Amino acid sequence: MEDQLRTLAKMQALDSEIGRYKVLQQELPKQLNEIIESVEQATINMLACETVRSEIAKKQRSLEADIKTHQEQSKKYATQLSEIKNNKEYKALNSEISYLKNKISEIESQLLELMEEENAARETVVAAKAELEKAEQSKRDKEGDLRHQIEGLETKIEEVRAQRNDLARTLPVPVVKHYGNMIKNKSNQAVAFTRDGSCGACGFVIRQQTRIELQLMRKLIFCENCGRILMNRFVAVEPENTEV
Ligand SMILES: [Zn+2]
Repeated sequence: MEDQLRTLAKMQALDSEIGRYKVLQQELPKQLNEIIESVEQATINMLACETVRSEIAKKQRSLEADIKTHQEQSKKYATQLSEIKNNKEYKALNSEISYLKNKISEIESQLLELMEEENAARETVVAAKAELEKAEQSKRDKEGDLRHQIEGLETKIEEVRAQRNDLARTLPVPVVKHYGNMIKNKSNQAVAFTRDGSCGACGFVIRQQTRIELQLMRKLIFCENCGRILMNRFVAVEPENTEV
């Protein structure tokens, strides 16, 4: 009977290992997605910052063109001014010229403001680029390893499952059935070690009579409360991973 108990404890250790791999099967693809998404997000952000900057530059060019047009017009008027004899026309043209000069200085102050905006936008682009590089670096560092791990998990699970099945074949069918049901329905834990006179899984206090039976190891004992296979921890050296 002790052999059966030891086999069951080993099977539980293997099933716990499978459980950890299954958690990784959920977690690792999420981590991979986060890494990929953060690069995408950083790219979108950087492009948006560049768009803002180029819009400002476009505005600047358009205003500079306006200034040029106004200056040329103003020059033209100045030339015409010397040819005019009529006082009224002279006055009218002169006021056109001063209107254009005002307009030009107005645009120039707009350009100064835009220059400041452009500086700020440039800094934003630099920061966004740095953020993107950081995300890309992290992707380069982790992506390959994560993909490798994800691909390896299924194989690992199959290997461990095969080891467990080999052990199961040495046990009576009803025991294996009960074990399988517990694994399936009790959070992947079929075997519970006793802890301070209680079931290590559900905490149910074990009767005195049952405690004696547990020490005798003459039959399988089930927790009265959760149904798991109860056993005392083996005093002999057990591998670390039989911890359940
Ligand atoms: Zn229990």
